Amino acid sequence: MSTESQALLRLQEVDLELMRLNGQLRAMPQQKKLDAIKAAKRNLAGKMKAIVGQRKDAEMELEDNEAAREKTVNRIAEVQGEAQERAQDFRGIRDLEAHLTALAKQLEKTEFKHRELEANLEKLMKAEQNALDLGRKLDEEQVAQQESFERSSSEVMARVRVLAGERKAALGAMSDEVKASYAAAAKRFGGLAVERLRGNMPTTCRVKLQQGIFNELMRGPVITECPYCHRMLVTEGALADE
Ligand SMILES: [Zn+2]
Repeated sequence: MSTESQALLRLQEVDLELMRLNGQLRAMPQQKKLDAIKAAKRNLAGKMKAIVGQRKDAEMELEDNEAAREKTVNRIAEVQGEAQERAQDFRGIRDLEAHLTALAKQLEKTEFKHRELEANLEKLMKAEQNALDLGRKLDEEQVAQQESFERSSSEVMARVRVLAGERKAALGAMSDEVKASYAAAAKRFGGLAVERLRGNMPTTCRVKLQQGIFNELMRGPVITECPYCHRMLVTEGALADE
C-alpha cells in the first residue's frame, strides 16, 4: 500500500481514538465540577458588579447626607447668631425661632436618614466581603479540581501526546490536497471521514458497488471518494485478503 494511503488510514484511526479520549476526558467528574465552578464564577462576577455599584451609590448618598447635615448645622448657628443680635425685636425673634424649629426638624430627619444610610452601606460592604470570600473559595476549588483532573487523566494525556505525534507524522506523509479533503470530510462526517474498499464494499457505508463502478474506481486514483456516501475511499488493497 502506498505511503499516503497508509498515512491517511492511520490518521483516521488516530483521530477516532483522539475523539474517544477527549470524550473520556470531558466525561471525568472533575470536568463537570470545573464547569460548575466556571458558571458560579460568572454568576458571582455579575453579582459583584451590582454590589459594587450599589456600594458606591450608598457611599455617595452618605457623603451627600453628611454635607447636608453640615449645611443645616451651620445654618442653625447663623440663625442663632441672628437671634442674639435681634434680641429686642420680638416679632423678628418669633420668626427666627420658627426657622430654628424647622431647621432642628430638618437636622433630625437628616440624622435619622444618616443612620439608615450607614446601615445600608454596612449591609452592602458585608455582601461585598461575602462575595469576595466566595470568589476566593471558588478559585481554590478550581485549582484543586484542576490538579485532581490532571492526576486522574495523566495516562490518557500521555496517550494523547503520543497520538498527537503520530498525527503530525501522518499529515507529513500526505499531499495538501488529500489533507484538505480529509479535513473537509472529517468535518462533514463527524470524524468518520475515510473508508476502505474491501472487495466491492466500502467499510463504512457498506453499500455494495456495482461491477462497472467498481472497475472504474479500481482504475482511478488509490485515494478517491465513495460514490455513495462521499467519504474518502482508499481503494488500494480492495482485493487483498488481509
Ligand atoms: Zn461510502
